[in-house]
Amino acid sequence: MSVRTRFAPSPTGFLHIGGLRTALFSWLYARGHAGKFILRIEDTDLERSTEAAIQQILDGLEWAGLEHDEGPFFQTKRFDRYQEVVEYLLAQGHAYRCYCTKEELEQMRAEQVARGEKPRYDGRWRDRCDSLPGVAPAIRFKNPQEGEVIVHDVVHGRVLFQNSELDDLIIARSDGSPTYNFCVVVDDMDMQISHVIRGDDHLNNTPRQMNMLRALGAKVPVYAHLPMILGSDGAKLSKRHGAVSVLQYRDEGFLPEALLNYLVRLGWSHGDQEIFSTEEMIRLFDIADVNKSAAAFNGEKLAWLNQQHMMHAPAARLVAPLRWQLERNGVDAHDDAQLEQIVVAQRERAKTIKEMAANSLFFFRPPESYDTKALAKHVTPAVSVLVAAVTEELAMLSDWTAPAIHAVVSGFAARENLALGKLAQPIRLAVCGGTVSPPIDATLAILGRGQTLARLAAAVAVWLG
Ligand code: GLU
Repeated sequence: MSVRTRFAPSPTGFLHIGGLRTALFSWLYARGHAGKFILRIEDTDLERSTEAAIQQILDGLEWAGLEHDEGPFFQTKRFDRYQEVVEYLLAQGHAYRCYCTKEELEQMRAEQVARGEKPRYDGRWRDRCDSLPGVAPAIRFKNPQEGEVIVHDVVHGRVLFQNSELDDLIIARSDGSPTYNFCVVVDDMDMQISHVIRGDDHLNNTPRQMNMLRALGAKVPVYAHLPMILGSDGAKLSKRHGAVSVLQYRDEGFLPEALLNYLVRLGWSHGDQEIFSTEEMIRLFDIADVNKSAAAFNGEKLAWLNQQHMMHAPAARLVAPLRWQLERNGVDAHDDAQLEQIVVAQRERAKTIKEMAANSLFFFRPPESYDTKALAKHVTPAVSVLVAAVTEELAMLSDWTAPAIHAVVSGFAARENLALGKLAQPIRLAVCGGTVSPPIDATLAILGRGQTLARLAAAVAVWLG
């Protein structure tokens, strides 16, 4: 059987962590089995679906690197097809017209509740052949009345539903519009989905969907219902827990591979390994190893993983995200080699790319002022004179590299009988405006000769007044 999975978000809200994990598991399963990953936008809820949400889903998946092989298919573009299948089910006797009015249904419901029964459609039009002139009927699926539906769920195991518990679902409303569960069925059939991997909030829809697939003579896919992601307090993950849009993680400076690594471990494990490259995930992931208990979101672990991925990635990998973050700060950084040097110098000091960018702005902007506390601590007129002198020595350097710069600065300090820090801190203050930067030799090497000498001269001029 060729593997075909799908991610089928409803664009009624942003793509968040839970949705991305569902997409990830489907994507991994397809990639690991030479299969296809299909993207389907379930936008039939016209009132709640928005263009912005669709765009945000597409952008989020793209940023995460979960590229689809087919689609995106939009359900709103498939109404003719749903209509065709409704007609087919009617013709085959698997569906029927129900002329109940809203009032009638409400009354049915009220009576059932009064009798202490579970409200459900009682099937009163199931076997009727007549019609009510002037009333537009809804179309209902003729659910089997006896027997049971067994879902052999990959995650939850065998889950049994009694057909007697399932009433005859409306598949097309009286205005002709198809309903949610029906569209899913037609799409899973037409798109030849082999594995439906989705949140376990959909498990209760599954027996109805299976019955409809069987009535259509379609192959029933394998189902895997994923446990929910909970907040650290055990409640369903919500905005309160920072369950923001996936793109916000990008904005906050997380690497997509770190976020995916974090998500894959929510409910899945491979021994006690924590750090996975995307290739490893593809190779090792199996839906059968997903745990059925809910997993809790832990922001600290995500931050830790992000740092691990930042530390271990090839430096060149971090250039594009760093440039992007710098651009967000109004910095136009185009020198890839320089950005790569910044990555190497800064990555130990930052948990996110955003933080790395914030720590690196000084490379692109001369200081507008000098940290007053640091000035008081590190700079005196005598020190300023020393900085002017070392600037002259640096100016003579033919080889502008970190080792050569180190030799000049440490040689100068030794001759002046100064601890290196006594000279390095004022130099740092002069070029960055503050006291935090990578080692001074690396800082000056990355900054370049022109900027270094200009900033040192400018600082000395200010400090000596
Ligand atoms: N559109 C559904 C959702 O966003 C998913 C349906 C499915 O995967 O079958 O929750």
